[in-house]
Amino acid sequence: EPVALTDPHLAGDAELAFEGALRPKNLGEFVGQAKVRGQLQLLLRAAELQQRSPDHILLAGPPGLGKTTLAMIVAHEGGRPLRMSSGPAIQHAGDLAAILSSLVPGEVLFIDEIHRMARSAEEMLYLAMEDFRIDIMVGKGAGATSVPLDLAPFTLVGATTRSGLLPNPLRDRFGFTAHLEFYDESELREVLARAARMLGLDIDAEAIAEIAGRCRGTPRIANRLLRRVRDYALVEAADGGSGRPDVGAVRAALELYDVDALGLDRLDRAVMETILTRFGGGPVGLSTLAVSVGEEAETIEAVVEPFLVRIGLITRTPRGRVATPAAWRHFGLDDANTTAG
Ligand code: ADP
Repeated sequence: EPVALTDPHLAGDAELAFEGALRPKNLGEFVGQAKVRGQLQLLLRAAELQQRSPDHILLAGPPGLGKTTLAMIVAHEGGRPLRMSSGPAIQHAGDLAAILSSLVPGEVLFIDEIHRMARSAEEMLYLAMEDFRIDIMVGKGAGATSVPLDLAPFTLVGATTRSGLLPNPLRDRFGFTAHLEFYDESELREVLARAARMLGLDIDAEAIAEIAGRCRGTPRIANRLLRRVRDYALVEAADGGSGRPDVGAVRAALELYDVDALGLDRLDRAVMETILTRFGGGPVGLSTLAVSVGEEAETIEAVVEPFLVRIGLITRTPRGRVATPAAWRHFGLDDANTTAG
């Protein structure tokens, strides 16, 4: 089983509380994503000057890059209440109607994984976003009538790991779409230094850099690794060791949790090894890959693949995923095709 370090669905309560405690509260504390921050700042200021709710916002990108955090910041910066929901929780139009009709004026509605909402709810959302109105069906069969219901003006913040999965009419109704990118190492060092300060953890620059290089460009993973390193140092101290969260502690902790030098975890490696050894480097189709590693295709596509592409271990071709020469090298294997040729 892949460890919880990279999987957003595997986090326990303690992990979630820890995450909550480290969440930046306003745009000034939010590290990196300078472009998106500037765009959001403008959008929020303009709304404030016109004394209206900010435009609807779509946040797209892999898990752990700050989508939920940004939704909370949008609410916090404008002093607006926040309602949180998610696509999988909205399986009928009625679920959405109940949420929308109970919003207070100016509220921010966050819908995580919005691409997983029911189709019928999606259609209700179009009208709600555009006109702050929904039509509610009353009665059944031939006697059914639709009754219009006015809503309080609200701001929808939708988050998705797969903006390509959203139907165009929904995508078009967002005033602003932000594509969150993986963080570079200097940004991750900043995320880690901030988190260490908040935890009162005395950790040196070398140790921070070591974590930054191994967290898949993802602040959530950076924070989780930091927590593991803190635990490691704590236990070491209790056993009479130095108890310093230094680079040695980082390496030992990460080894214990199966995070390799590139930051690949067990699921990443399972995917890579499948492509390399079972399929001779590819191309391998997404569904074949998913079945081989026993994971959902959506997780592979939204969580695993973007990072592997970004660090240059695989490329996507029309016929499937293909391992690069760098991948063969990282896994210490011979590329059958190159050695044969
Ligand atoms: P997502 O909703 O995209 O999965 P979250 O907003 O839940 O990601 O972020 C996960 C964790 O990473 C949170 O604990 C948050 O504190 C941290 N985090 C995310 N982005 C940033 C950032 N830009 N600066 C500092 N911390 C961040």
